Amino acid sequence: MGIAIIMDSDQIFYYNIYDMDYFYNRGDYMKMPKERRTYCPSCKKHTVHEVFESKRRKASELKWGQRQFRRVTAGYRGYPRPLPSGNKPIKKLDLRLKCKECGKAHIQKKSFRNGKIEFVA
Ligand SMILES: [Zn+2]
Repeated sequence: MGIAIIMDSDQIFYYNIYDMDYFYNRGDYMKMPKERRTYCPSCKKHTVHEVFESKRRKASELKWGQRQFRRVTAGYRGYPRPLPSGNKPIKKLDLRLKCKECGKAHIQKKSFRNGKIEFVA
């Protein structure tokens, strides 16, 4: 646990999950353990957590950012910022950890850039 495995052509490297700066701007394929034993803030002890990627949810219309977006795009003026173009191959990835004892999920503190990720048992 706590080890990330990178498959690079025919070599396999093992890295500590907390040294994620290494992955910055690498478009590699990455394998990560599906379960990890780590601290749960609600149980206040180390428990087994399920690791999964957090997906972007639909923005709530009541949130400040969304309200501002609606206000700025309303009327005859154009879009407030340049429209994003193209598809980024390497995106910033946020991992969420779900406690198996209490069922509560929390985020991993540090997000990192990665091309493709697969969760293995
Ligand atoms: Zn818990």
